[in-house]
Amino acid sequence: MQHIENSSEYNGLTVNSGVAQPPSVNPYLTRRKRRPLPSAGELVEGILKGDVTTLARAVTLVESLSADHQAIAQEVIEKCLPHSGNSRRIGITGVPGAGKSTSIDVFGLHVLKQGGKLAVLAIDPSSERTKGSILGDKTRMEKLSLEADAFIRPSPSAGSLGGVARKTRETIVLCEAAGYNNIFVETVGVGQSETAVHSMVDFFLLIQLAGTGDELQGIKRGIMEMADGIVINKADGDNISRAQLAKAQFTSALHLFPPTTSGWMPEVLTYSGYYELGIDEVWAMIDRYFAFVKRTGYFEQKRAEQSRYWMRETIDEQLRRHFYQNPEIEKMIAEKERRVLANEQSSFTAAKDILDLYFGRFRE
Ligand code: GDP
Repeated sequence: MQHIENSSEYNGLTVNSGVAQPPSVNPYLTRRKRRPLPSAGELVEGILKGDVTTLARAVTLVESLSADHQAIAQEVIEKCLPHSGNSRRIGITGVPGAGKSTSIDVFGLHVLKQGGKLAVLAIDPSSERTKGSILGDKTRMEKLSLEADAFIRPSPSAGSLGGVARKTRETIVLCEAAGYNNIFVETVGVGQSETAVHSMVDFFLLIQLAGTGDELQGIKRGIMEMADGIVINKADGDNISRAQLAKAQFTSALHLFPPTTSGWMPEVLTYSGYYELGIDEVWAMIDRYFAFVKRTGYFEQKRAEQSRYWMRETIDEQLRRHFYQNPEIEKMIAEKERRVLANEQSSFTAAKDILDLYFGRFRE
């Protein structure tokens, strides 16, 4: 091709040929070989020995969405079940900023001092919705994370709240089989996740703050009703008297609630996670609760109810997923929705048509 730059009379800028473009992918980077999947038997053996790496690997399979991983995970869970159950499961909730991580750090060291091991799990529904998590985005539990006997695992992130919660519940089984006799399940006190946590723990601790003036405002009644203990954090410095006032207000508010099914009267305490004040008292309350429910038999009764709940939850979740993930159903729902919105069909006959298609497919 004739280029004017090639002419001897051309005085303008010239273009050098330059260097060859490197390939966009580094040729020296060979694809990392995937580690072969461990067998369920190997995993169970490692878990029962208390091997943390194996436990973490098994939990990753529990959290995975892949069918292969799930098959192994379910087998591991089944095999671990007979070795599970021997722990105190404690749910901890509070709004962001209430001091959950600070407190769990301190509470965690407290229980470790009494011997045994501690697993800290989390349910953070925000991570799926916003792709960011309320619980996991900062350095948390600095002291606890250095302890060999503490296993800290952030919230599983994939799926619906029900799915995330189920994975956490399954992880509890694995941790218990690995010898963790204290399980903390942390969640953010902002919505539905408390119900999920409540359905997998023995004791539910609600961390509150004082000093907002109108203490009881904005606290969902449902959450307070679920609490076995309410603790007012940051009772330090000039905040002590406000914390005391909040304690009195919460105590009188609790009297307005109907008696709990366990017969346990939830207690209200003040403490400071940061200055480590009143931690023994919080733990003495939790000890009192466990002694009480073990004596009355409510401990076993509640766990049995929880097992029943999770069986039903799992059925619900799987049915829903099977239905909504069917491409034909998905297409028909979109089409029917359009018709319903255009007033061409009633909501009820549209729903019936969709269900007929679904049930028709699986009748034979
Ligand atoms: P989370 O969002 O519930 O996990 O709360 P954090 O544990 O991250 O605590 C939020 C803020 O409150 C941090 O700046 C902590 O240092 C502070 N904080 C936590 N506990 C206490 C306490 O007992 N007293 C005081 N004064 N501050 C605290």
